[in-house]
Amino acid sequence: MLYDCAVIGGGPAGLNASLILGRGRQQVILFDDDTPRNAVTQESHNFISRDGVHPAEFKKASYEDLNKYPTISVQRNHVVDIVPTASYFQIQTEKGQQYEAQRIILTTGLKDILPEIEGMHQFYGTSLFGCPYCDGWELKDLPLVYIAAYPHAFNSIKMVSNWSKDIVVCTNGKETISPQEKAILSQKNIQVIEDEILRLQGEGGQLKSIQFKNGNELHRQAGFISYKLQQAAPFAGRLDLESNGMGGIKIDPYGRTSRKGVYAAGDNAGGLPQQIVAAAEGSKAAISVLSDHVAETF
Ligand SMILES: Cc1cc2nc3c(=O)[nH]c(=O)nc-3n(C[C@H](O)[C@H](O)[C@H](O)COP(=O)(O)OP(=O)(O)OC[C@H]3O[C@@H](n4cnc5c(N)ncnc54)[C@H](O)[C@@H]3O)c2cc1C
Repeated sequence: MLYDCAVIGGGPAGLNASLILGRGRQQVILFDDDTPRNAVTQESHNFISRDGVHPAEFKKASYEDLNKYPTISVQRNHVVDIVPTASYFQIQTEKGQQYEAQRIILTTGLKDILPEIEGMHQFYGTSLFGCPYCDGWELKDLPLVYIAAYPHAFNSIKMVSNWSKDIVVCTNGKETISPQEKAILSQKNIQVIEDEILRLQGEGGQLKSIQFKNGNELHRQAGFISYKLQQAAPFAGRLDLESNGMGGIKIDPYGRTSRKGVYAAGDNAGGLPQQIVAAAEGSKAAISVLSDHVAETF
């Protein structure tokens, strides 16, 4: 069967794109291997009517919506390759199946590359977070650490100070904060510790202290980190798509990429990393697919 559109990635971008396409009478197939960026988090915030839900609960409710439409098929499957032919795309899965679709929407998201510090994975998503807009409210007025192990953390530290004034910055032995930035932070009573971290200590996902290689210990209840991001899937390279120059897929305002028939939406196309934004970007890409289909077939 030749599907009208294949959506690769079942996060908020891909789920909303699939809903619009299915309701738009497109035969759509959604592939999802269920390893989203926010899998570590217990509560997701800032999506009106869904504030505080567990990501798995969000996904369950979304699939209930999609299941109402016979035009939408779902494959809980990892896509390993997308091969363009003259008139359609072949999608190959890890299980060795092959599917064909006329158009593709890439909604595969990003992956976080966390600083390599012992204990980091024990606390990331429960008491250490990346995004103050998402989790700042729960940490308000607490004694926080900001682990600035990667550069360009200064603006994020400034933002965190909106939720708590009690912040200590740890650079883990790296020169990630410039002397000018240090001077500004010092004026705001934000201490910068540049010693190397030995490990993060705590219990049940709850951070208690940061232990340094020089034997010092800093007591903190929670905090934020700077981290790196990379594309979760290699399809932008495989399909030779133009980049936006910041690691994302370049798209026009309606989700069209540089290659005809390929659209992208959500985190992987450089969208503001919020679920509601990803869902909206997914809608835009789906509406472009529909309008391009009608333009060709009317
Ligand atoms: C710890 C953490 C907490 C967060 N908290 C919040 C919050 O409170 N509020 C908020 O609005 N945002 C939050 N975010 C950001 C939010 O999760 C993302 O912005 C949003 O999920 C992006 O949606 P997306 O659809 O673009 O990608 P994703 O949600 O990452 O979905 C991509 C999907 O594609 C699938 N996939 C990838 N590759 C393949 C493949 N090859 N084959 C098949 N499937 C594939 C993945 O399994 C995944 O399901 C948080 C992020 C993190 C890391």
